[in-house]
Amino acid sequence: MKKGINTICTHVGEIHDEKFKGAVSPLYMSTSYAFDDVDIKRYPRYFNTPNQMALSQKIAALEHAEAAMIFGSGMAAISTSLLAFLKAGDHIVLQKTLYGGTYNFVNEEFSKYGIAYDFTDGLDPQDFEAKIKENTKVIFIETPSNPLLTITDLDAIAKIAKKHGLVSMIDNTFASPVNQNPIDFGIEVVIHSATKYMGGHSDICAGAVASTEVNMERIFQLAKNLGGSLSDYTVWLLERSIKTMGIRVKAQNANAQHLAAYLDAHSEIERVYYPGLPNHPGHELAKTQMNGFGGMMSFELNADYDASEFQKALQLIKSTMSLAGVESTVLSPTQTSHALIGPEERKNQGISDGLIRFSVGIEEPEDLIADIEQALQKVKRGSIATTH
Ligand SMILES: *Cc1c(COP(=O)(O)O)cnc(C)c1O
Repeated sequence: MKKGINTICTHVGEIHDEKFKGAVSPLYMSTSYAFDDVDIKRYPRYFNTPNQMALSQKIAALEHAEAAMIFGSGMAAISTSLLAFLKAGDHIVLQKTLYGGTYNFVNEEFSKYGIAYDFTDGLDPQDFEAKIKENTKVIFIETPSNPLLTITDLDAIAKIAKKHGLVSMIDNTFASPVNQNPIDFGIEVVIHSATKYMGGHSDICAGAVASTEVNMERIFQLAKNLGGSLSDYTVWLLERSIKTMGIRVKAQNANAQHLAAYLDAHSEIERVYYPGLPNHPGHELAKTQMNGFGGMMSFELNADYDASEFQKALQLIKSTMSLAGVESTVLSPTQTSHALIGPEERKNQGISDGLIRFSVGIEEPEDLIADIEQALQKVKRGSIATTH
C-alpha cells in the first residue's frame, strides 16, 4: 500500500522489537555475526547489518526507489556512485554549479583515474547535450543548486540521458526527499548528503544513495571495497531523525517562503534567490518538479552594508558552515563552501563576495525577522552617529 511522506518517515523499515515489544527499532551494534546456517553474511562494511538494512528501506521508500544504501558521508555516497559507473577512458558531463566538495573531487581526483569530464556552460538541457561525447557515460546534476538555488529540468535531463544511453545522477540534498523525488521524472541515481535535511539537527554526518536494484548492486560492489559505511549507532540516530523530516522540512519551506517574501520587499536588500519567489528564473520549472520550494535561499545586501559585519551582528541566526538544521544559519559562500574554487570560477557561477546563504530553520518567522532588522540597524554604514 502506498504511504504518505510522514508515514514513510515514521514507520517504513522499522525493526519490530519481538523480544521486549519496545516502540522503536532496537540497535544492533555487533560487528561480528554468525557465518554458519545464515542467509546473509553480515558485516558493517557490507552495508547489511540489521539497522543499516532497515534504514536503507526507509530511504528507498522516501525516494520511490527499489533500493538504497547509507554511507559514512555525502561525499562517500557521491564518490562511490560516480566511480561505480566510470572507468579509465570514460567521460562525464557535470552541471556547472555543483556542491564545492563534488567539484573538488572531480577536479582533484579524476585525472588520476583517466576519467575525462566537462562542466556545462549553462543550465539549459541543451547545455548538457552539447557536452556529450562518444565516451560519455554519466550525466550529473544538482537542483536546487548551491548557493544560487538554480533549477535544472529533471524530465529533460532524464530524456537526454536515455537518448544517449547515459546514467543520470542527481545530488538531491538541497530539496530533500520531502520536496523532490527525481526518480519520478526518470533520473536513475539519487544521492543525498544525509548530514543535511535527513539528519536535520547538525549532529550527524552521513550519506545516502537510492536507485534500481541493479544499479545499487553495482554501487555496492565498489562500496564494499572503498569502505565508506556508517556506524550502526549513527544509522540508528539517523532513523530517529528522519521520523520528523517531513514535518521539519514542511515547516522550513513555510518559514523560507515567508522570509524570502519579506527580504524581497525590503529596501535594504539588493536581491533574493529563492525558487519559491515568482521573480526567480527557475520558479515555473520548480513548480512542475518540486512539492515544496525548500528551506534554502541566498541574498545580497545593498551597498550600505558589509555582508560579514551583518553576519556578525546577527544574534539568533548563527554564522556556521553547513545547513539544513532546525536552527537558522547563514554563511558566506566566498569564505566557506566556494572558497577553494577561486574568484574566477565564483564569478563564472554568479557568486558575489557579498552573497549570504541562508538556511532557514523552524524558529518563529517573526523572531528571525526581528534578528535581521536589529543586525541591519547595527551595521548600516554611516549609521553609527544616529544609533543610541
Ligand atoms: C554537504 C553536501 C554534500 C556533501 O556531504 P557530506 O555529508 O558533507 O559529505 C554534498 N552535496 C551537497 C549539496 C551538500 O550540501
